[in-house]
Amino acid sequence: MSVAPVSTLSQAAVIPFPGARPAEDRQAPAPRTLLLSPPHLAGDEMEELKATIESGWLAPAGPTLAAFESRLAEATGMGHVLATVSGTAALHLGFRLLDLQPGDEVWAPSLTFIASVGPAVQMGATPRFLDVDPISWTLDPALLRAELSAAARRGRLPRAVVPVDLYGQPADMPTIAEACAEWGVPVLSDSAESLGSLHHGVHAGVGARLAALSFNGNKIITCGGGGALASDDGGLIQRARRLASQAREDAVLYQHETTGFSYGMSSVLAAVGLAQLRRLPERVAARRAVHERYRDGLSHIPGLSFIAEPGWARSNRWLTVIGLDPARTGTTREAVRRALEAEGIESRPVFKPLHLQPAFRDAPRAGGEVAARLFETGLCLPSGSQMSQGDQARAIALIRRACGA
Ligand SMILES: *Cc1c(COP(=O)(O)O)cnc(C)c1O
Repeated sequence: MSVAPVSTLSQAAVIPFPGARPAEDRQAPAPRTLLLSPPHLAGDEMEELKATIESGWLAPAGPTLAAFESRLAEATGMGHVLATVSGTAALHLGFRLLDLQPGDEVWAPSLTFIASVGPAVQMGATPRFLDVDPISWTLDPALLRAELSAAARRGRLPRAVVPVDLYGQPADMPTIAEACAEWGVPVLSDSAESLGSLHHGVHAGVGARLAALSFNGNKIITCGGGGALASDDGGLIQRARRLASQAREDAVLYQHETTGFSYGMSSVLAAVGLAQLRRLPERVAARRAVHERYRDGLSHIPGLSFIAEPGWARSNRWLTVIGLDPARTGTTREAVRRALEAEGIESRPVFKPLHLQPAFRDAPRAGGEVAARLFETGLCLPSGSQMSQGDQARAIALIRRACGA
């Protein structure tokens, strides 16, 4: 079956494979035939869409949306869920619920996607970037604890801490939440990449005051775009729901105590999400199998490493990421990326740490250079749940060759 991807980060690069390239064209990059994380259709999206459209409930209200939200509550174990237009919108609502004010600090790991702090910065907050743990690549809880107690002494605690479940690897939430609780600082978990991941037997993000999810086209399941805000606190999600629909009060006339957003997810997108969400356990299993095949094929290479999965974690392995130590592998992240690209295989450097971004030149930071080092050496590999074993074997063979192994 040939179905065009709903949306991917690399949409522009999806070109049909034209066969062998002429010799004079060897310098041009090959068309990408193997993408990092393309959408994987469940097969019954059209049926859900048809039923939803025929129901007449297209707006961010109605039975399809309610069903999607309640399935998400079941899947995450967080009792209350609001579906939103994007993960970034969910984070924005989260910061608003935590009453973030201009001049407040928001703390996040430096090794993350810019959306973890983007809305907070737009609200006038100062981001402070903490280094990550070299084993789990997520927010270093010991550093967080030390920084919180120093901040308490300075009399300037953050308004929120935003741990991130990087590439599906859950942050160490109990330790983070305990440190934050000691100082009364709320936790907003950026769980955009970790739907289906577990920590300590519960879903990623559980233990935070609020958690944000994403259904962007490249995530483990997608609505084509979308997100959700989840919490165990029903009152918070009720407030979020009101803010997401222009802060309209329950009155027939237009009554507003404050201003809000237009952030509710359309029922049309929720229909796609409903079909996708049913496949979540299969998608997690498939991504974990992809990860295991990379390990089997690559872990013997000296100087090549993977994000470790602590005993208490079960990552959805949204993306498999390798670290390449140049001194021991005899190659670099960039050389491997180019070798894959020449064969039409997409891979990407790990997120450039936020403390190195021009946008955050002056932001305060804490900790060492772990994030910066992982950025220099880390490469995200094609990890789609639909990737064939043949395609993956091709990627593995190229990485081995680049490492002389
Ligand atoms: C995808 C992502 C987001 C943003 O989600 P959108 O739905 O694209 O707005 C936020 N944080 C992280 C870590 C992400 O990977």
